[in-house]
Amino acid sequence: MAAGLWDTHTHLQDESFAGDLEEVAARARGRGVERMVLVGVDEGDFARIPAVLARLAGSVAALGIHPLRLCGDDARADPAAAAARLAEAAAEAARRLRPAAIGEIGLDAAAGSEEAQARLFRSQLALARELDVPALFHCRRRFGELVGILRRDGLPRRGAIYHAFSGSREMAEELMALGVRLGLGGALTYGNAARLRALVAGLPLAALVVETDCPDLAPEPHRGERNEPAYLAEIFAALCRLRAEGEDAVAEALARTCEAMFEAAHG
Ligand SMILES: [Zn+2]
Repeated sequence: MAAGLWDTHTHLQDESFAGDLEEVAARARGRGVERMVLVGVDEGDFARIPAVLARLAGSVAALGIHPLRLCGDDARADPAAAAARLAEAAAEAARRLRPAAIGEIGLDAAAGSEEAQARLFRSQLALARELDVPALFHCRRRFGELVGILRRDGLPRRGAIYHAFSGSREMAEELMALGVRLGLGGALTYGNAARLRALVAGLPLAALVVETDCPDLAPEPHRGERNEPAYLAEIFAALCRLRAEGEDAVAEALARTCEAMFEAAHG
């Protein structure tokens, strides 16, 4: 393969990788997956990620507070205060640790107060603009609100990724019009995803990136196992089967996109 693959969404700081991180990284390299984005979701991750990153040559970090972190008891008692405190914690960690992206951040129908979620999301979106790094979005059943905020506030100059995309053509077009790239994961390999595959076959390659979201959401034929970056090869193969460009050209386009988003920001 011409260009190494980037796994644009991993949680390799998860304790399920604590015992075999080096083997996981070696299996990934063996399948052409050379760079990983470690994505943080809470303050515990901000503390864990630097040491894990030091064991993974060529990988980069994203730091953000996930909207589901607004589900704790303190957040339920006073959502506005919790959102303000978490936004401050994200800003402090990002200014200190200089991540290559802010994420994962966003909106989730299961996360309680919509006002508090919007406040936390917008403040981290502003942080990505301030640090001139891309943003990584998590969105579950709040698409209209997410797009409304992006239209009003604007994206970071280096753009953004809508992680775990499995939506409609209309959603893909709205995101692309805003300059948001679509993160394709295990869903692309699932038997019931014919509509997603038909959509992805016709989208501009420059709008796409690939991701595992490990340790969750393993692709076929590993469904139900712990997911890991090596399995990105299955997602990449599923993408290549849909495209006319050929494997090398797909790999090169994906690498170019990721270098422009993450590398310039980091280096
Ligand atoms: Zn994730």
